[in-house]
Order: sequence, then structure tokens, then C-alpha cells
Amino acid sequence: MSNEDSSRRHFMKTTAVAAAAVSAQSSSAAQSPGGVESGGMRAGQWPASRPLGKKVLWNELARSEFPALLENDPVVILPIGSLEQHGPHCPVDMDISIPYHLAAATAEGIDDFPVVVGPPVWTGFTHYNMGGYGTITVRLETFIAVVSDICRSIKANGFDRIIMVNGHGGNVAPVTAIANKLAQEDIMTLSLPYWNLVDQEMKDWSTADLRGPGHGGEWETSFQMYLRPHLVHMDRREAGQVRWPYSPAVRKYAHVPERRRESANGSMGDPFSASAEKGERIFGLAVERLTAIVKEFHATPLMHYEEFGSDTKVLPSLF
Ligand SMILES: [Zn+2]
Repeated sequence: MSNEDSSRRHFMKTTAVAAAAVSAQSSSAAQSPGGVESGGMRAGQWPASRPLGKKVLWNELARSEFPALLENDPVVILPIGSLEQHGPHCPVDMDISIPYHLAAATAEGIDDFPVVVGPPVWTGFTHYNMGGYGTITVRLETFIAVVSDICRSIKANGFDRIIMVNGHGGNVAPVTAIANKLAQEDIMTLSLPYWNLVDQEMKDWSTADLRGPGHGGEWETSFQMYLRPHLVHMDRREAGQVRWPYSPAVRKYAHVPERRRESANGSMGDPFSASAEKGERIFGLAVERLTAIVKEFHATPLMHYEEFGSDTKVLPSLF
């Protein structure tokens, strides 16, 4: 059975038994402490259920379980990502899987108050990866509408504290704009790309890319080798073939994303320098930092948009 077949089988099945079987069949899969563990599933098995420990996934809660969560200033972490080609060796759900796993591990580690992982938003603004098999994009307007409405719905359910954790570069500017727009509606969110949590360490601990997170390069591949090694095709790795038209000094101001222009093979970075150990280390630190943010957000009195006199009724046409 090819690794591709194994991955497809895995996606179709959601039990720990199936995951373990596929993992064992995948000849090129790297083994790591982040893989399937005996006795149940760990965060790596998205979108499977998580039978171990307490419930943290919004999607798995019953209607009757929500009121109790609302009693102690809960925080909702909303993972946002993308489905797009990530080079020949990585799964296309890379950009949603990392924020999802970060959110789940963070939520599971906090016991003092409720932390809920919002429904993972796998739809991203990623037209520039079209042309690489597996990519599914939505239009910018669609992305903004979907993420905004999900946040509005979470707020309407009584959850006042929402942290959007994004895993895709093309979503960064839209998510920031969404957060600014929602503030006008008195939905005061926090939002961040996950790599900002560990920006410096991605540079300091890198042995090849000296940056983060790349695209199927050192860090993204390391995350997957730690979280879901059975989905990484080690034998198909290729170094990114970056071919930007500008010098680094000008490049940072260019907004011409077209993956095939940026990289001849769709990858950016060096997956050969990736390891499960690197993935575990950077993932652990990101969880630690996200945990601190969640705790402070929970403990800080709610902000309200109109507290300082901004009257949303004065200029209704601006809303
Ligand atoms: Zn990515």
C-alpha cells in the first residue's frame, strides 16, 4: 500500500485502531513521541474525536453542556487555517492542523476555567496555491464573511473572549481586518498567527531555514513529524526552490503571492533539516506562550468598544 493510500484511509477513519494500523503500514513515516499512543487518541488525529480527558472541542459539546461553561469567563480559541499544497511530502491540511493542535493542547492544559476549541476553520484565502493539487481556496470576501460570522455566533452564544489562532500566511491581513471590524460590534477578540508565538526561537533553533515557518520547509515539516508522522512522506521531500524576483530589501514590500512564481516546486525551506524533536520543542513552547495569553485574557476585565464614548449610532453608515 502506498503512503498516499494510507493517508486516504486514515482520513476516512476516525478510530484509534485505524490510525494505529495506518501508522504501522506507512513505510516512510517517521516515528516520534507525538504519534498515536496506546489507549486512545492524541491531538494528532484531527478531525477525529478526542475520547481522552476532558471535553475541549466546541463540536463535541451537547447543547446542555454550554451553560455551565459560561459561568466562569470562558475563553474560546478559534483555529483558522487553509487547505493547500505543501510540497510533495506534507498533508494539505498543514495550516489548520497546527493551530488546531495548539488550541487543543492549550485547552487541555488549563483547568482553572473553561477553554473551548472553536470549530476549526479550514477554509483559507489561498488562491496563490491553486495549481498545486489539493488546494481549495475561498474568495477573500467569503473568508471574511465566514470567519466574522463564526465569531459573531460564538459571541451570540455568550462567549465574550475569542482568540483567533491562524496558521496560514494569506489569512494574516484578513484576520487582522476581521478583528478590527468585529471590535466595532463590541466583539473584542485577540488574533495572532501561531508563528508569532515562537518567532525568535524559529530563527534561533533553525539549522537551515533561519526563519519560520516557511512552506513545507524545516519548521512545518517538523511540526508534522511530531504531530502526525504517518502523514509525512519522508522519501518525497524536496528542498524549496525559491526564485523571488526581488532582493530581500524590496521583497518584504511585495504583495504578489503566486506560489509558482515564488518557488519552482511549491515548497519554501528545507524539509531535510526537519525533525520530530524540533517539532516537539517548538510546539511545546508555543503551547506555553498561548497558555499565558489565554490566562491573561481570562483574568482581564472585558473591554467594551463604546466605553470611551464612541457612539456606534452616530455614524451608522460606517458599520
Ligand atoms: Zn503552511
